[in-house]
Amino acid sequence: MRIPVTFRAELLSPLVIARGRRERVHSSLDYIPGTSLRGAILSAYMMINGKDEVFERLLSPGRNVFPFLWPGPEGALPFARSAVSCKRHGAAHGLSDVLVPHYKALAAVADVRELEQAMKCPKCGEDRKPHQGYRRGGAELPRPISTSRMNVGIDRRRLTAAPHILFGAEAIEPVVRDGERWKPLDLTGLGWIEEEDLEVIEQISSAPLFIGKMRSRGYGRTKLRVTRREPLRRAKEIANRIDSLTARCGGGARYFTLDVVAPLIAYDRFLRAVSDPSEWLPKDLEAESVDAMAGTTIVAGWDMAARMPKDDEEAVAPGSAILARSKLSRDELARRLVSHEESGIGERRGEGFGRVVANDGFH
Ligand SMILES: [Zn+2]
Repeated sequence: MRIPVTFRAELLSPLVIARGRRERVHSSLDYIPGTSLRGAILSAYMMINGKDEVFERLLSPGRNVFPFLWPGPEGALPFARSAVSCKRHGAAHGLSDVLVPHYKALAAVADVRELEQAMKCPKCGEDRKPHQGYRRGGAELPRPISTSRMNVGIDRRRLTAAPHILFGAEAIEPVVRDGERWKPLDLTGLGWIEEEDLEVIEQISSAPLFIGKMRSRGYGRTKLRVTRREPLRRAKEIANRIDSLTARCGGGARYFTLDVVAPLIAYDRFLRAVSDPSEWLPKDLEAESVDAMAGTTIVAGWDMAARMPKDDEEAVAPGSAILARSKLSRDELARRLVSHEESGIGERRGEGFGRVVANDGFH
């Protein structure tokens, strides 16, 4: 049986997660993609056991979900693109969300009051602007710190510094500043793992793993912890929120929100990457998107059949937020939203792509 599992990576050294494959100077992402997490676990397994049938099982499509890990404790998520904060004082003056107010200003009712209120700081009266970073519930989390270093290439034959080979790397530091104090940086995410595979992963994680680039130089040394979670049981919460969103949006249909938490890769029937919600919103929701605060990002492509890297491809960016309405009954809609939360949407879900959260209380 596949069970929900919290993955927590504690950084023991700086981490480099390259944004793209072809960069000479690595700039680092401040999160760990599911692909990197899975790669680290599989390569640690292979070092000990080689490529046996368990290795193939861990990797087999549709079986396990290795999640994206976000900087912060369990429940950490990227801010939705509809989050706003004070232009001058940031989250210190409170956070708000404009997804529903923006829709109400656009919709037939043309009600701009909520939007006007949300866009003005209640503490100092300044305008608010989009707020980026990570949150847990409605609270902002400390931002990871990145530093750049130049490294000298090593001549592998002579074991001396190689002339003319100098490369730069941006790395995420293993500590963050939380108010007055420094504390270790943890990155966490929610995955779905078969029980028998979980035991293998637990064993592998008893020793530190290496994640990301420049591992041979000691970067990306990580202590990984996997914890079984209780079943999520989200249906009731999601259903209740359908009611409150529907009331706010003026009724007529059932309203819901969908947040793209990890990059979402979806193709149309010509196998072109699509980002418009009308093309990737699951058909079984019988829904239309009425407002979207969404963007795109580039992810490293992977050819499943050949198990080879392929060209970078476009994906719906983390933090993209959709407001949509459906003709389904409340409970049926809630049930289907729960199933999409658990299975994700689109391609490469085994690497954590396409994770979505329905009806987040932040909106
Ligand atoms: Zn303010």
